[in-house]
Amino acid sequence: MSNFDVIIIGAGPGGIYSAYELMKTKPELSVAVFEAGNPLEKRKCPIDGKTVKTCVKCPTCSIMSGFGGAGAFSDGKYNITNDFGGTLYEYVGRETATELMEYVDSINMTHGGEGTKLYSTAGSEFKRKCIQNGLKLLDASVRHLGTDKNYVVLENMYQEMKDHIHFFFNTAITKVEKLTDGYKVIHKDGEAECKFCIISVGRSGSKWMQTVCEDMQIPTKSNRVDLGVRVELPAVVFQDITNNLYEGKIVYRTKKFEDSVRTFCMNPHGAVVNENTNGIITVNGHSYEDPSLQTDNTNFALLVAKHFSEPFKNSNEYGESIARLSNMLGGGVIVQRFGDLERGRRSNYKRLSEGMVIPTLKATPGDLSLVLPKRLLDGIIEMIYALDKIAPGTANDDTLLYGVEVKFYNMEVEVNENLETIYPGLYVIGDGSGVTHSLSHASASGIYVAKQIAEM
Ligand SMILES: Cc1cc2nc3c(=O)[nH]c(=O)nc-3n(C[C@H](O)[C@H](O)[C@H](O)COP(=O)(O)OP(=O)(O)OC[C@H]3O[C@@H](n4cnc5c(N)ncnc54)[C@H](O)[C@@H]3O)c2cc1C
Repeated sequence: MSNFDVIIIGAGPGGIYSAYELMKTKPELSVAVFEAGNPLEKRKCPIDGKTVKTCVKCPTCSIMSGFGGAGAFSDGKYNITNDFGGTLYEYVGRETATELMEYVDSINMTHGGEGTKLYSTAGSEFKRKCIQNGLKLLDASVRHLGTDKNYVVLENMYQEMKDHIHFFFNTAITKVEKLTDGYKVIHKDGEAECKFCIISVGRSGSKWMQTVCEDMQIPTKSNRVDLGVRVELPAVVFQDITNNLYEGKIVYRTKKFEDSVRTFCMNPHGAVVNENTNGIITVNGHSYEDPSLQTDNTNFALLVAKHFSEPFKNSNEYGESIARLSNMLGGGVIVQRFGDLERGRRSNYKRLSEGMVIPTLKATPGDLSLVLPKRLLDGIIEMIYALDKIAPGTANDDTLLYGVEVKFYNMEVEVNENLETIYPGLYVIGDGSGVTHSLSHASASGIYVAKQIAEM
């Protein structure tokens, strides 16, 4: 049995920045981090595009788990905004939330992120163009580290922490128990105790988080999932947006159903990738800062938020069921030309190969109308035409749609303004709390909790 002052469960951005801040502000505290996945250098997705072309469903997904969490091979876009990426500001206040995100940015800038560009949407000409065409551009400052620099930042942070923080890799925590004065965490090789426990298990730990809440009777709520497609088109089509803003977060309200459709995770000159969440293959995207690794395409998601009301409670299961349909029909992700979707026919390899857009992900040509509910698909089609007005070419026949992209929202764990559960000293942060859904918000939530513990 080991004893620590603080135990952090999960080494994603939430856990890493907590550990880092504790090391800096209260070095006398003993801090342990338990992580289900591998150290950074051992994280390797077996898909190499040659011998292994599609997901082989590893027990722990190297894209989602390990030092760096789900963000390790991400595009490293740190959005400094309260407009999206989470609702941390509802707990800590808008000003504090922004300050925390700026602080995270300053850490990144001293750990390898130096020289990367900070984009801003404020007062841009493009904002006016969006409004004129029924689209809303959300305000944000975006630091784009790129997958490569994001990796360097993580590597440097680990090097700085490894002699001060006790890291336990490949050690998933299976249970958390309340003690009279503190907490016990249990894993396959034993158990450990601590005074303060920070749970930061992200999306991949969402199911486990649910069991912790059930066991400890921590109240939760869950009613949202975002579903849609990833769009891939020639980078030139979106270059007015991406050259100036890097990522435009654009929202459209559909005429037919008055649903909100939004762009999400824009990757100029990027690649479309598979994502494995609890064994279900969905689609995502990323891009590199290094020009030699860039492609001729830009990709982004178009997502529709689906909120459910009583009696249905498990919004994620709804999202999973839709994703399973695409996995069932396509053996994984399905790709379809926009022109084929509009003509009501499936895409096939011949039509894809004749198209102008060369897919960056090997996916199965198919028919997304057999997978996505009509209401969602109608909204996505409407938005593609709306985007075509500000970025002509978006609605071209050869524009590729990959499905499905699902943004699972963890159930929201009931926490107070300190991100502390009903149990004093037990904090839930990052995406696993349902409060954040982004690198910057998750990291900021980690700093916030660490600062509180350091002051006690
Ligand atoms: C491909 C991809 C691209 C993305 N791109 C961006 C982007 O550009 N910008 C952006 O803002 N966001 C992006 N995101 C989202 C972003 O990565 C997450 O919002 C962020 O990583 C959340 O941080 P976290 O620490 O809360 O959780 P995570 O990063 O998910 O980390 C949680 C960690 O906890 C571990 N864990 C889970 N259960 C247990 C357990 N029981 N015991 C021990 N450890 C456990 C997991 O292995 C994981 O390493 C992307 C995500 C993906 C998958």
